[in-house]
Amino acid sequence: MSQTNDIPAGAAAAAGLMPIPGHIEPMPVPRPGIVDGVTPREDGRIDLLGLPKKRIAELFENAGLDMKAAKLRAKQVYHWLYHRGVTEFEAMTDIAKTMRPWLAERFVVGRPEIVEAQHSSDGTRKWLLRTADAHDYEMVFIPDADRGTLCVSSQVGCTLNCRFCHTGTMRLVRNLTVGEIVGQVMLARDALGEWPKGAGDVRLATMAGLDEDEDEGDYTSDGRLLTNIVMMGMGEPLYNFDNVRDALKLVMDGDGLALSKRRITLSTSGVIPQMERCGQEIGVNLAVSLHAVTKDVRDEIVPINKKYGLEDLLQACADYPGASNARRITFEYVMLKDKNDSDSDARELVRLLKKYDLPAKVNLIPFNPWPGAPYECSTPERIRTFSDIVFQGGISAPVRTPRGRDIDAACGQLKTSAEKKSRAEIDRLLAEKEAALG
Ligand code: SAH
Ligand code: SF4
Repeated sequence: MSQTNDIPAGAAAAAGLMPIPGHIEPMPVPRPGIVDGVTPREDGRIDLLGLPKKRIAELFENAGLDMKAAKLRAKQVYHWLYHRGVTEFEAMTDIAKTMRPWLAERFVVGRPEIVEAQHSSDGTRKWLLRTADAHDYEMVFIPDADRGTLCVSSQVGCTLNCRFCHTGTMRLVRNLTVGEIVGQVMLARDALGEWPKGAGDVRLATMAGLDEDEDEGDYTSDGRLLTNIVMMGMGEPLYNFDNVRDALKLVMDGDGLALSKRRITLSTSGVIPQMERCGQEIGVNLAVSLHAVTKDVRDEIVPINKKYGLEDLLQACADYPGASNARRITFEYVMLKDKNDSDSDARELVRLLKKYDLPAKVNLIPFNPWPGAPYECSTPERIRTFSDIVFQGGISAPVRTPRGRDIDAACGQLKTSAEKKSRAEIDRLLAEKEAALG
C-alpha cells in the first residue's frame, strides 16, 4: 500500500491530498496543485475543460472582467465549449474579435491526450488516454445497429478487487477529474465528427487515427453514432461521486452535451451509501454488478460484499429514486464456470429479485478472459439454460455479446499496459487488498 495511507483525512487535505472513500478510509491520493477543479499548466493559462458555467464566470471576473461581462462571456464560452465542441477561442464567432485573443492568452480548452487508438474487427474502438500527470486510462466505443455506446472510465485503476476483473488487479492510481471524465465524451464526439455542423475539429479526428470520411457509412438513421453512455470503464464511479456527478451534469445539460439521462447508465459494484445520492443528484439509470446470489460466492468474487452485503444491496436497489417498470435497474451477472452458473443459482436470482419486488432486468455477461485470470467462462449451453430459467421466472435476461475482445476492450479487460503486473504481484496485491478489507 502507498505510504500515504496512514495520513489522516484532515492532514491529507492540508497537504493537498485527495481522500477517496472506500474500504480503506480515507485513502488519500496525491493531486498536486489542483485548486477548485483547476489544474495549473506550465504556460500559466487555465484549462476550462470540465468547469461549470459559474466557475468559468468567476475565473473571467478574476481575470479582470466586470461581473456582468464575465457572466455573459461565460455563457457564450460554455455553449461553444460543451455544446459545439469548439477548442479555439478564435472560432467563437459571437464573441467580439478583440476579446478572443484576450481569452486565448489566459485560457485554453483542452482534451485528454490520446496515446493510442485501436479498432476491433467488430467495429469496437478503444482509446488509450493519458492525464497531464502521465497516468493512462481507457475509453471504449461500441457501435450497434440502433445505438452507439461510449464506455467511460471514472478512475485510473480501482480500489476494489473483483476477482474476475482485470482492472481490479491494478492499484488505484487516482480519481479522474471532471475534465478527464467529460473529456472522454468530448473526445469521442471529436473522433466521430458529431458536433453540430461547422464545429468539427478535423485535427482531433486525425489525432484519434480516424479519417474524416471513414465513418460516413456507420451513421444510423437519426444521424447519431454516439447515443448512449455507460459508466462502465475503469474504476468504481461511486467512489468518485462528486467528479462523476459534475461531469454527467455537463453531459446532461441541454446547453452542454445535451444527452438525456435516460441514455446514461452508471454501473456500481454496490457502494450502498452513495446509491441514493446517485439517484437523487444525478438521476441516471442504475446498473448493479450483482454476479452472485449467495454470501459466500459474492464475498469471494465481489469482495465489497463483505462490507455491503447482498440483501442490503437489494434493499438499496428497491429504494433507488426513479426506478420503475419503465426504468428498470440492470443487474449484471458475469457467467463463471462452476462458480455462479448453476440452475439453483438462476432460481435463487429470480427469488431474490422478486422478494425485493425489483423492477429488474438481468444482463448475463460471458466472462471475458485475461492473462492469469482465475476463472473460466461458462459454456454457451449453460448460459442459455441460466437465461431461460430467469426468463421463465418473469425477468428478462439477455446474454450480452462480448465486444472488442481482440483489442482487450471487452468488459473487465481494461487495464493500462503501464500498470501491467506479473501473476505473482497480482496475487500479492489481491492478498493485500483483502487484508485491508478485513
Ligand atoms: N466498477 C463498476 C463499473 C466498471 S466494470 C462495476 O463494477 O460495476 C463494468 C462491468 O464489467 C461490471 O459489471 C463488471 O463486474 C464487469 N466485468 C468486470 N470484469 C469482467 C470480465 N472479466 N468479464 C466480464 N465482465 C466483467
Ligand atoms: Fe473495480 Fe468494477 Fe473491476 Fe470490481 S468490476 S474491480 S469495482 S472496475
